Amino acid sequence: MDFDYSPSEEAFRKEVRDFLKENLPPRKERGSDFLANWLRKVRARGWVGFSWPKAYGGGGGGLVEQAILREEMALAKAPPLGTSFMGLAWVGPGIIQYGTEEQKQRFIPDILDSKVTWCTGYSEPNHGSDLAAIQCKAVRDGDDYVVNGQKIWTSGAPWSQWIILLTRTDFSTTSKHDGITCLLVPMDSPGLEVRPIENMAGDRHFAEVFFRDVRVPVANRLGQEGEGWKVTVSALANERSSIGEVTQMFSKLDTLKELVRATARNGRPAAKDPAVRRRIATFEMKIAAMKYNGLRYLTKQIRGEPLTSETSVNKLHRASLEIEMDDFAVALMGQAGLHLRGSDDAVDAGSWSKSSLSWPNVVIGGGTPNIQRNIIAERILHLPKD
Ligand SMILES: Cc1cc2nc3c(=O)[nH]c(=O)nc-3n(C[C@H](O)[C@H](O)[C@H](O)COP(=O)(O)OP(=O)(O)OC[C@H]3O[C@@H](n4cnc5c(N)ncnc54)[C@H](O)[C@@H]3O)c2cc1C
Repeated sequence: MDFDYSPSEEAFRKEVRDFLKENLPPRKERGSDFLANWLRKVRARGWVGFSWPKAYGGGGGGLVEQAILREEMALAKAPPLGTSFMGLAWVGPGIIQYGTEEQKQRFIPDILDSKVTWCTGYSEPNHGSDLAAIQCKAVRDGDDYVVNGQKIWTSGAPWSQWIILLTRTDFSTTSKHDGITCLLVPMDSPGLEVRPIENMAGDRHFAEVFFRDVRVPVANRLGQEGEGWKVTVSALANERSSIGEVTQMFSKLDTLKELVRATARNGRPAAKDPAVRRRIATFEMKIAAMKYNGLRYLTKQIRGEPLTSETSVNKLHRASLEIEMDDFAVALMGQAGLHLRGSDDAVDAGSWSKSSLSWPNVVIGGGTPNIQRNIIAERILHLPKD
């Protein structure tokens, strides 16, 4: 296997690094207009929606360059390339793959220009892991669907303008995967109510979302009626893009190393403690393993083979690694590890304590570890079900 990059790929890496050197000042030196300028500049370069077709305003770039871009951005701890994480990660790709021409023209530019933020309405109170069992009901009435039901754990719902929503249009199908329909719904629709939920880190980033006779034009249906499952499966594969997760872990390891260098343990620098060094080396090896695994899947994508279940492997690894790294950082800080943002004694503005309390984000969000194990067992290893 050849791990080397081609001269043009290396040139692209240099281009990204040069850009970062010029346009990413240290945090303390960033003015109030930094983010708006940053978003404008990366957009002008064609780096937002890097691999999306040029016809819809994307960059039309290749998958390897996209991986390089993400890697360099993560290592430099750069801000995101757009304000709608979900819009860029899976709503946009879903619309490009399944949307009508009118939907592409209407929704894609706003995602790329950071004009709108999207959230995702899949999970319901009794249907999280068993996603296909959804009950949120959409009934056709003339040119509209009328939606009734509830979603839960909807990240970003309190500030999003749009939601990609899974509804059931047919309750009589023999397979629960049939009869599901995907709708694109404005969050200010009459009858739609958002009730934020506070998590244990004190954030209110997710919510319950209630639908009472919400009318959604048929023109806002993504894909065919009853074929919403197909749209979701490809969206979920995008959500678990293996390489993206690895670069974030390298960046986190980098921050952890800085913490280790700045911390004393048993009266001497923690960085000189063999036990600490061993833990850091173990984290590094685990992330490297994720990287090479991710590269195998990237190779598949470059060959034009679709990614589905494989992305569960790195999702599963990342879940346990995040917890191990957060726990290690908090323990390393001793008493200071107990302080959250706002406290004078908080280290790194309380980010490690917060991250440690926010483990459900990466462990449960996007599917639990047990579900990833089921997927790996059944679809990758082809183990018998009983
Ligand atoms: C921070 C965060 C953000 C989220 N954001 C969103 C979002 O934006 N949009 C959205 O739609 N959802 C979101 N979710 C919801 C998330 O997708 C679900 O919580 C998750 O899929 C689990 O579903 P559940 O909570 O219903 O748990 P359950 O499905 O009830 O699972 C409970 C336990 O049972 C286990 N289990 C369930 N079924 C099986 C099985 N077949 N085999 C083995 N074990 C099983 C699970 O692994 C888990 O340990 C978010 C969740 C979190 C924590």
